[in-house]
Amino acid sequence: MTEEKTKYCHQCGAMIPFMDRYCPACNAKQGIISGMEPIKEDKGKSPWTAVILSFLITGLGQLYLGKRKRAAVFFIGTLILGGVLSMSYSQEQVMGFGVLMAFISAIDAYMIASRKSQSI
Ligand SMILES: [Zn+2]
Repeated sequence: MTEEKTKYCHQCGAMIPFMDRYCPACNAKQGIISGMEPIKEDKGKSPWTAVILSFLITGLGQLYLGKRKRAAVFFIGTLILGGVLSMSYSQEQVMGFGVLMAFISAIDAYMIASRKSQSI
């Protein structure tokens, strides 16, 4: 059988099923779980790891920092713009654009990691 996840009631401390909205012991309303995941802090995540990841693949550093939307914008944006540019520019110029995007992505990742206050 599957093991049920539990959490603790913030009111009385009773162990209750993870999905329960109300504590069976004291009937206190529990916090609504948005997206099932507790908000993760960026603690312990190195800005430099994020920078290196973003250099490797544009947006990967953002993904590492938990900024999925931002990562997608960088990754998809680079692909689309790169594709558009490749129709009218040389391969070297498109490569240059890719490098530039990697730089921007890396700087952005560093800023997120050091400030930890971006909303997306
Ligand atoms: Zn309770």
